[in-house]
Amino acid sequence: MRATLGGKGAGLAEMARLGLDVPAGFTLSTELCAIYTDAQKKGLDASVWEEVQMGVRFVEGAMGRTFFSSHKPCSGLPLLLSVRSGAAASMPGMMDTILNVGLNDEVVEALCADTAAATTAERRFVRDAFRRLLDMFGDVVLRIPREAFECELADLKRSKEVQSDTDLSDADLKELCAAYKRVYAKHSVEFPSDPEVQLRMAIEAVLASWNNPRAIKYRAINRECADLKGTAVNVQAMVFGNRDERSCSGVCFTRDPRSGLNAPLAEYLRNAQGEDVVSGTRTPEGIDQLEADFPACYAKLREWLRILEAHYKDMMDVEFTVESDRLWILQCRAGKRTGLAAVRIATDMVDDGLISAPRALLLVQMRHLEQLLRPRFVGPYRREDVVATGLPASPGAAVGRIVFSAEDAEGHRMRGEDCILVRVETSAEDVGGMNAAKGILTARGGMTSHAAVVARGWGKPCVVGCSEMHIHERQKTVTFGKIASPRAVFREHEVISLDGDSGNVIRGDLELTTPGETSEDPVITRIMRWADETRTMNVLANADTPADVRLARAKGAEGIGLVRTEHMFFASPNRLQAMRGMVLAEDDATRKIACEKMLPFQCTDFEGIFEAMAGLPVCVRLLDPPLHEFLPPRHSQELERVAANIAAESPTESVADILARAERLRESNPMLGMRGCRLGVLYPEVTRMQVRAIYRAAKACIVRGMKVRPQIMVPLVAIAEEFRHQLSIVRAVHAEVFGEALSPDVPACEVGAMVETPRAALISDDLVRAGAQFLSFGTNDLTQMSFGMSRDDVAPILRAYCANGIMTDDPFETIDRRGVGRLIESCVRAARSQSSAPKCVLGVCGEHGGEAHSIAYFASEGVRLDYVSCSPHRVMAARLAAAQAAARNLVA
Ligand code: PEP
Ligand code: MG
Repeated sequence: MRATLGGKGAGLAEMARLGLDVPAGFTLSTELCAIYTDAQKKGLDASVWEEVQMGVRFVEGAMGRTFFSSHKPCSGLPLLLSVRSGAAASMPGMMDTILNVGLNDEVVEALCADTAAATTAERRFVRDAFRRLLDMFGDVVLRIPREAFECELADLKRSKEVQSDTDLSDADLKELCAAYKRVYAKHSVEFPSDPEVQLRMAIEAVLASWNNPRAIKYRAINRECADLKGTAVNVQAMVFGNRDERSCSGVCFTRDPRSGLNAPLAEYLRNAQGEDVVSGTRTPEGIDQLEADFPACYAKLREWLRILEAHYKDMMDVEFTVESDRLWILQCRAGKRTGLAAVRIATDMVDDGLISAPRALLLVQMRHLEQLLRPRFVGPYRREDVVATGLPASPGAAVGRIVFSAEDAEGHRMRGEDCILVRVETSAEDVGGMNAAKGILTARGGMTSHAAVVARGWGKPCVVGCSEMHIHERQKTVTFGKIASPRAVFREHEVISLDGDSGNVIRGDLELTTPGETSEDPVITRIMRWADETRTMNVLANADTPADVRLARAKGAEGIGLVRTEHMFFASPNRLQAMRGMVLAEDDATRKIACEKMLPFQCTDFEGIFEAMAGLPVCVRLLDPPLHEFLPPRHSQELERVAANIAAESPTESVADILARAERLRESNPMLGMRGCRLGVLYPEVTRMQVRAIYRAAKACIVRGMKVRPQIMVPLVAIAEEFRHQLSIVRAVHAEVFGEALSPDVPACEVGAMVETPRAALISDDLVRAGAQFLSFGTNDLTQMSFGMSRDDVAPILRAYCANGIMTDDPFETIDRRGVGRLIESCVRAARSQSSAPKCVLGVCGEHGGEAHSIAYFASEGVRLDYVSCSPHRVMAARLAAAQAAARNLVA
C-alpha cells in the first residue's frame, strides 16, 4: 500500500503485522495531500479531523498514555505524538517532521513539580523534549527562522561553558524554553498550548511541506519521485531514545550497504533522539558497542532484522529506539547501497535460497553497474599527499575544485567545471549542490548522516566525519590537522582529490581512469548471465568503427543495430575530401565519379565491422545527414580551398560556380531538408555506392571464410514509395555483387526502414507491404518531429520547462509515452497486423534504446519490441534493464 500510505506508513503497518514492536499510530493517505494542496491550504476539513481524533483515541488505548488536554488531566508522561511526512518513494529529509506534539507549559511544570515521581534526569528529559518541540514547531509550522533558535542554544551553551547539548542541566533547559518563548514573541506569534491545536497545525504543516522548494527540487532531480502526488502523514506515539541512560536511538542496515557483506551495520547514540543520529551532529557508536551496552535489545534487534529481510527479500534500513531498555522499531525501508553492495547482496541472497535470480535482478540497478564502471584513480597515490582521512561513506574517486556552498557547486556544474563540495555537514537544502558536485566531503557525521545517505544513493564519492578538517568561512579556506599548526591549507577553488573507498583526502589533481571493462568480474558476469537468461528483448549496439564494434561485443551486444555511415567520412582529410567532391558534384555523372572515390573507404570500414561481429547482424544505415554538414563554415578559407580543388578537376566549372552551389545547400532548418532517404532518392548513385561497399565488403569476408549478416536500413522514410525506391537499388546491387543464383554463403538481402517521422509511424503497414523486413524507431528524430523541437537547440527550453513543471522529463532522454509512445504503439499494431507479409522485426536505435525507463516501456505490453540498440557503453545496462522489465512480470 505504498502508493496510499507512503513508504514509511506502509512499512510501519507491515511491521506491526509481522509482530514487531512499533509505537502505535495511524496514517493520513497521500490522496489527502493532493486534495489538501489543491484546495490551497484551507485546512483539514471536519470529517478528516474527526478521523484524526479517532486515531488519537486508538493510540491512547494502545500505548496506555493520554494525549493531554485540559479536560483530561494526566499523571505521568502523557502521550506525545510525532507527525512525520512519508511519500511513496524515499525523499530523505526533504519534507518536515514535528516531534513531541502534546507538550505545553502546564504539562511540563506538572511533571517537573511531581517531586515524588520526577528525578533530576526525568525533569531534564521533559524540558529537553519541550525545547525540541518549541524549536521544531516554530521553525516548521510558524516559519520562524531556525537560526533564531540555534543562536539562543549557542548563547546558552557559551554562557554555561558547555560543549554539548547533553551537558545542559534541567535548569538550563528551563531557561532555554523561556528564551525560545521570547523568540516566538519577537516574531509576533504564539505557541499554541492546546495539544489538539498543535496536532492540527502540525499535520497541515507537514502536508504543506510537500511543496517546499527543496522537496520540489529533489523531485525534479530524482525521477522516481516525479509521478508522486503527495506525502502521507504518519501520526505516531513518541518513544524516547533520550529518556535516560538506558535509552538510545539508532539506525541499522541488515547488511553492510558499502560492501554488501552479510553483517548488520548499526550506528546509535545513547540518550539521544533519532534526529541526532541522522543529522550527523554527534559521532555515533557501532553495533559491537550496542551489543555490549544493551545485550537484550541487541538480541531482539538481530532477530527482527532477520524477520524483516526474510519478509521483504531485500537489504533493509531500519530505525530503532530503545526507551528505558525496551526496543521499538520506528521505520524500515529498502536500504540505499553502493554498486558493489548491490551485486553482492543480490548474489548472496540467491545463494542462500532467499530469492530467485529474476528477483535478484530487481535488486541491482543500472546505476549500480555504472558505479562499478566508474572512474578510479589511475595509480596509487603517495602517503604524504594524504592530508586527512574521514569515513568512506560512498566509494569511487573524485577530483575537483573546493567549493563551500551548494550554490557555488551548481555554478561550477553550469560552467562544466568539476568541484568537490566541502561542508561541516550537509542538510536537505544542499541537495542541488550535492548533485552538482563530483564528490562530497564533510567534517561531521557518520555513515548514516545526510551526506552519506544521499551520496550513496546517487553513487557519488563521499567522505564524511573528517574531524581533522576545519572550514574557515571568513577566510574562505579549509585546513587539515591542528587549527594552530595545520598540516595542509587550501583556498576555495583549489583542487583536491577524494577517495571514497578509503576515506582519504588527497592533495592535488590525481588522474582518474576512464571506466574499464567489467566483464571479467565474476559477480557481474553472473548477474549478466541471469539478465541474459531472463530478458526477452535482444540488445544490439550503435557503433560506427571496428573499435567501437569490438567494444560493443565485449559488453555483450548481440549485433549492431545502427552503423551511422556518415561518421566514417570525418575520420581523415582524404575521406572528407572524397565526400565533399560528391556533395558539390555538378551533375549525376560527376557525382558517380566522386562516389567511386568514396567506395574503397566504405568497403574497408565495413569489412572491419563485419569481421568484428563474426556473423552477427550488422545494420548499416544509408547516408542520413543534411549535406551541408560536410562542408566547412561558409565564407571560410577552407571552403574556398575545397572549391578550388574541385574546380581543378572539373573541365567546366569555376571556383565561383562551386561556391554558389555550396551556398544553395545551406538550410535554415538543418534537420528537415535534404537529408535521410531523400538524399538517396534524389542522388541514387550515393545509395548504389554505399550498398556496393556493404556487399563487396561482405563478399570479401565470405571469401576469407567468415560469416556475415549485413542489413541495410533506409533513414527518415515518410512515404512508402521512398522505401520502395531505395529497396529496388539495394536488390539490384545485391544481384550485381552476388549474382542471381543464391548459394547458402550469400547473405540475404535484408532491408528495413527507420521510423523517424510521425508519418512513417502511421503508415507502417504500407512499409511492411512495400517489403520492409524490419522497422527501427529512430526515436531521436521521432521525438524531435513529434514535439516540433529541434534536438540541437531545444536544451535551454527543456531545462526551463522541467524547472517550472511544464514537463517532468526531457523527452530526448526518456521516451515520451503519452505522445511519441502513441505513435510507436500505433506503428507496432499496424506493422504486426500484416499477417500476409513475413514477420517484421521491430526495434529502436534512438538514444532511448539505452535508457532504463524507456527500455521498460519498449518491453511493456502493447509495445514489446524485439530489440533495443544503444551505444556500446550502455549495452550492459540495457541488458539489465531489459531483463528487469521481464523479471517484473515473472515475480509479479
Ligand atoms: C534517431 O533519429 O533516433 C537516430 C537513431 O538517428 P540519428 O540520431 O542519427 O538522427
Ligand atoms: Mg535520425
